[in-house]
Amino acid sequence: MYDTIARYLKSLFLLELLGGLAVTGRYLFGRKLTVQYPESRTPLSPRFRGLHALRRYPNGEERCIACKLCEAVCPALAITIEAEPRDDGTRRTTRYEIDLFKCIYCGFCEESCPVDSIVETAEFEYTYERFGEHIMTKSALLEMGDRYEQQIAASRAVDAHYR
Ligand code: SF4
Ligand code: SF4
Repeated sequence: MYDTIARYLKSLFLLELLGGLAVTGRYLFGRKLTVQYPESRTPLSPRFRGLHALRRYPNGEERCIACKLCEAVCPALAITIEAEPRDDGTRRTTRYEIDLFKCIYCGFCEESCPVDSIVETAEFEYTYERFGEHIMTKSALLEMGDRYEQQIAASRAVDAHYR
């Protein structure tokens, strides 16, 4: 009996509707939790693992010494390296490719590299339009390294105590 009267009064005075509007009003005027991407962005950790890059030394020489540690440690078998000695006796890669369809962005390649050559940048906004673009070639990786060197070096400085 009392339940029926309570339900009737709730319906009569639209109490449930008002309760719902109160919740809407609370979120409407409260602190906003969403950001208007891409105009606004949330901060990224210096350890964020995005698109890969191969780095160079300041004199332009590529850092990679073709030791293949990154290839060996990669759990997804995403890295393919071929190497040959150069005329000056140093050893460099003739082919360095990363299959981004296989990569799981674990960062093991980055951790294993003895010369800080292969790294993962903070770049996460990329798409593929044609088949084959998911393979990052050596030239594409070096170009990424050249383009993002400042950002990479800054993240290394912040992150130094982890390494
Ligand atoms: S991030 Fe992990 S999965 Fe991707 S290439 Fe490096 S080691 Fe392989
Ligand atoms: S990127 Fe680093 S770990 Fe991989 S082959 Fe080159 S030097 Fe070795």
